Amino acid sequence: MSIKVREEIEKADFLIVGGGIGGLQAAITASERGVDTLVVEKADTRRSGCGANGNDHFACYIPKCHGEDLELVMREVNNTMDSGPMQDPIMLRTWLGRSFDVIRQWESYGINMRPTGDYNFEGHSFPGQQRYHLKFDGRNQKKALTDTARKNGARIRNRTLVNDILVNQEGRVIGAIGIDVSEDEPEVTGFIFSIRGVMIKVKYGNFIARYRNFLLLIAGLEAYGSRPQGPSHWPPKAPAHRPGKPPNL
Ligand SMILES: Cc1cc2nc3c(=O)[nH]c(=O)nc-3n(C[C@H](O)[C@H](O)[C@H](O)COP(=O)(O)OP(=O)(O)OC[C@H]3O[C@@H](n4cnc5c(N)ncnc54)[C@H](O)[C@@H]3O)c2cc1C
Repeated sequence: MSIKVREEIEKADFLIVGGGIGGLQAAITASERGVDTLVVEKADTRRSGCGANGNDHFACYIPKCHGEDLELVMREVNNTMDSGPMQDPIMLRTWLGRSFDVIRQWESYGINMRPTGDYNFEGHSFPGQQRYHLKFDGRNQKKALTDTARKNGARIRNRTLVNDILVNQEGRVIGAIGIDVSEDEPEVTGFIFSIRGVMIKVKYGNFIARYRNFLLLIAGLEAYGSRPQGPSHWPPKAPAHRPGKPPNL
């Protein structure tokens, strides 16, 4: 069976594999700062990943609802985690400390964070304890995040499954290969990002996905930045028709 290979390689400064909530939020942040951003998603970012059907609670700290003592909310988060207390208090403090900003951002994207009129906390806590799960109406969240990323200038390639990572001779990640199934005949396609760029692989994590853009960057570097072996080297051995010359990196 012959495989159709696209000659043209798509380039970006920041390549994000997976347009879940985490990937889209990273795309929004990067493109807002003027970074040339490309999201490659195997499904359609408007209804993909774990947030596809919409979420209804948002773990957060809002000073006007919880008071000024962030430590009380941190304690409650640690007491109610299924898997035990969070191991990283700095991470927890950073996430909670930033969470109200994220809520206001989500409101600006058109996601209804106050379906009852005001910020309303319900559920997920033991009786009589501080509640930190904001009830919101997230049924349109993926569409709103997608629209915002696009409005900021991020490019989104849906229906393209990334199946390998490309590294150069030094073992540095420079891109990825995927299969675009948006047309009747699937096409192998390549993505390259600039030497300044970072690649992230976004997978189902947990509810902190929304708050961890900066961690995703680091995770991407650690996971792929200096891996000597494993993913394909450029140019790839297969398919026979290479999608162009290697970049001069
Ligand atoms: C039913 C349900 C209800 C939930 N309710 C809540 C809630 O109310 N509050 C809350 O905080 N959390 C909730 N969660 C958890 C929350 O939805 C997830 O933590 C969050 O959506 C994870 O986002 P993510 O971007 O990390 O990962 P994902 O959503 O898993 O996104 C990964 C994306 O990558 C794409 N992808 C994967 N592999 C490839 C590949 N090789 N090439 C291209 N694309 C690829 C996938 O299609 C997907 O779009 C819920 C989860 C579920 C399942």
